[in-house]
Amino acid sequence: MQRKYDYRLIKSRRPYTLASLAKLLKVHPATIRGWIKTGGLSVAVVDNTRPVILNGAKVKSWMEARAKERKRPCGPDEMYCVRCKSPRQIVKGSFRAKSSNTQKVTVMGDCEECGLTLRSFNTAANLDDLAARYNPKYPKD
Ligand SMILES: [Zn+2]
Repeated sequence: MQRKYDYRLIKSRRPYTLASLAKLLKVHPATIRGWIKTGGLSVAVVDNTRPVILNGAKVKSWMEARAKERKRPCGPDEMYCVRCKSPRQIVKGSFRAKSSNTQKVTVMGDCEECGLTLRSFNTAANLDDLAARYNPKYPKD
């Protein structure tokens, strides 16, 4: 199931039918009907006649708010845990860095809650900064 939709394609000053909105967002019309019925998109329905017409500006603002609500921004000393589905701090002393070439670096640490290895991808130039953020005592080499 797709989790992100490109709501920037929606024109604010244009009305949409279920079919035209579904085609624009590359989803099935039943998905749009589901959003109207249970997801709160009913605020964008112009009136209860057929065909169902949706206000472009309201659809766009609803989708924008929905996308913003789903964001889980990490703090400076956190990595995203896919098992806990939230940003987590790493276990003290579990910080590791691995690079496959001279430019990229993968920093890893274990989740404080579930123990899963968390990964964050960055550039090797930022390694000292990353080490200071995740593990202040990380030895420099
Ligand atoms: Zn976790």
